[in-house]
Amino acid sequence: MRYLSTRGKAPVLSFDEALLTGLARDGGLYLPESWPSFSPQEIRALAGKPYAEVAYAVIKPFVGDCIADADLRRILTETYGVFGHRAVAPLKQLDERTWLMELFHGPTLAFKDYALQLVGHLFDHVLRQRGERVTVIGATSGDTGSAAIEACRDRDQVDIFMLHPKGRTSEVQRRQMTTILSSNVHNIAVEGTFDDCQDQVKAMFNDIGFRDAMNLSAVNSINWARIMAQIVYYFVAAVALGAPDRAIAFAVPTGNFGNIYAAYAAGRMGLPVSQLIVGSNSNDILTRFFNSGTMEMAPVNPTISPSMDIQVSSNFERLLFDVLDRDGDKVSATLTGFRETGRFDVTAEQLQRLRRLFDCHRLSDEETMAEIAARLQTSGELLDPHSAIGTAAAAAALRDDVAVVVALACAHPAKFPDAVEKASGVRPQLPARLADLYEREERCTVLPNDLSALQGYISGNRPPADAPSSDTSASSVRGAA
Ligand SMILES: *Cc1c(COP(=O)(O)O)cnc(C)c1O
Repeated sequence: MRYLSTRGKAPVLSFDEALLTGLARDGGLYLPESWPSFSPQEIRALAGKPYAEVAYAVIKPFVGDCIADADLRRILTETYGVFGHRAVAPLKQLDERTWLMELFHGPTLAFKDYALQLVGHLFDHVLRQRGERVTVIGATSGDTGSAAIEACRDRDQVDIFMLHPKGRTSEVQRRQMTTILSSNVHNIAVEGTFDDCQDQVKAMFNDIGFRDAMNLSAVNSINWARIMAQIVYYFVAAVALGAPDRAIAFAVPTGNFGNIYAAYAAGRMGLPVSQLIVGSNSNDILTRFFNSGTMEMAPVNPTISPSMDIQVSSNFERLLFDVLDRDGDKVSATLTGFRETGRFDVTAEQLQRLRRLFDCHRLSDEETMAEIAARLQTSGELLDPHSAIGTAAAAAALRDDVAVVVALACAHPAKFPDAVEKASGVRPQLPARLADLYEREERCTVLPNDLSALQGYISGNRPPADAPSSDTSASSVRGAA
């Protein structure tokens, strides 16, 4: 499988190159050249298989020959073997038509572990194969950061620098990042918003000199391998609930559009996905888009679902690529215009095509809290605020002719204890392995929202660039690109 950029100007890459590169050199995001296709028989054959085996079937066509079969199987077994539930992504029935998929059984209690734990293993494997070392940089509104740090900590071939908006993550989220004291882990609190952090990461990638000198890499949700890993649990859930003989809807609390895009990708691969429901908090750029056809930036306001407090959904670019008939020049022009004017429009016909699959629903913090209380009453499940946006969006937007909807529980309630307690009167407890989190030592550096300050810190805090493994990596990634 080969990978091309949504903006059409970057080199076409192999799987391992796309994995290590993250953002494409033309500013676009990598996508497979074509979608692997699963027949109903092939989908039916996944029923009852362990998570790691379904993962192998789904992921193998994307990886191709880049990783030997036996290695890929071992990596998947090791990755998902450490999760806290035997089913890895268990389903619970909430009411007649609604199921909850719990995606918080990884080390940091949020769904991002499902992709990032795998990406960490894949990086390790591919870098060792190539004799290379990389500097991972990322921006996080909370969950990506801790999940990425858990995935990269103590890996010989990787340094990780994680930017988070100072004071805008929950305390649990911050501590899950800053209490990892491994020497290859660097936490940076930026004086700005999550979008500022994300813009700085993009700017560092677009500075080709810096990018090559540091051998930069990303594990943010722009990395193709993250999307790939997330496709797996849509297959797992759909097959468990009757696919391919029954079509399934998914309701996804959405921020950067990575998770729901993976559901869309599963549909492109042949999984019968009947409806995709985008759940938003009051940072509702996507809800407004799906209602009007206009994507228009607005200031970010903090909510009780901070992992969805975003202004621009980076991964939407991948969907836009299909909307614009896979024309990289059009994507590039649209998004350059968006950066300049803060808005772009799709045509009524394009919107209508999207609305065949996508619906959306927006919740205020008050509505989210009411949903947490109501679900506890009716089903006994204690939901975190993000998950509650998923279940409420499912209830509000599910089409009459859809038999089953799976709402994604994207975080454990104990990641957001204050909001959950305020909504329900119940204080959620951290699982035993994280029980001493509030006593652990923290390490973090505060920096201004300034590109040169950030670049100076990163170049000053990674191992010397003339380390032999670095040299190989810089030249081979350049050569490949
Ligand atoms: C990251 C995250 C989201 C948003 O997911 P996207 O892939 O960015 O749309 C929602 N909920 C939680 C708990 C998250 O960590």
